[in-house]
Amino acid sequence: MSGGTSETKQVNFAMANKARRKIINLLAKGDRNLEEITGTVGKKTLDFHLMILREAGLIELEDETVKISEYGKNFLKYKKERGTEEIKDLSQAKPVEIAEVRQLLPCIADSAKFRIVANMDPLGGILKILEPIFPRGSYSDRKDSLIVQKGEIITTIYGSGKVVMRMVKNEDEAREELENLKNTINEAIKKGVTPAPREKIRVELTDIYKYLPQTNCGKCGEQGCYSFAIRLMAGQVSLDRCTPLTEPEYAANQERLQFLAAYV
Ligand code: SF4
Repeated sequence: MSGGTSETKQVNFAMANKARRKIINLLAKGDRNLEEITGTVGKKTLDFHLMILREAGLIELEDETVKISEYGKNFLKYKKERGTEEIKDLSQAKPVEIAEVRQLLPCIADSAKFRIVANMDPLGGILKILEPIFPRGSYSDRKDSLIVQKGEIITTIYGSGKVVMRMVKNEDEAREELENLKNTINEAIKKGVTPAPREKIRVELTDIYKYLPQTNCGKCGEQGCYSFAIRLMAGQVSLDRCTPLTEPEYAANQERLQFLAAYV
């Protein structure tokens, strides 16, 4: 099964929510009427979840009956095939530690930023398995390296344990990011498995801007929503700075943005 970028985003967004996954799992067993679905996810948000699933093309609604669309059936089949083959075992891996930060050098691309070289315990062949835990991670077999992007910061982890982090503001930020990196890896090792690889999603500035309230109220400390979207894309601000998103009228937008922000 393959889809365009926009389709992939809609389907991944639809399936990122537990209640919607519950609806799809229920429908996979057969068509249901609205009342039966209400029993699974509750009445309050039912319309919203059904709207998202319909927008993604996963379900169809006929009178009071909800069923999986042909596209939805193909999607489930594809997920089942991939899911079983791609969940990987990490149970033999040991937690890693950051051994040292060795160098802090000006970045070639931007001399106001820094590049650091650090060492963590060797990852002993598990780098490739770790790729799916990073929304913007990309593993290279040839170099045995995993490149992880978070906002402006680009980190390359090598199988030997060497870590090169580019575009950091200072040593404190580098140490904080290294700590986050270590914790993310160790959480996956503790669980013993990594999730099946997710679709790679490319988030555009317009995707973010589209779902902001667009009132330019300035509560986030920026001149307006567009400036906020630019800084969010650059990893310089977090979504929670836009407090109007917590208002009930923006609940759907907030959920979409939280989903998209994980891929920035
Ligand atoms: S707080 Fe939110 S709505 Fe207000 S300007 Fe910032 S991004 Fe826009």
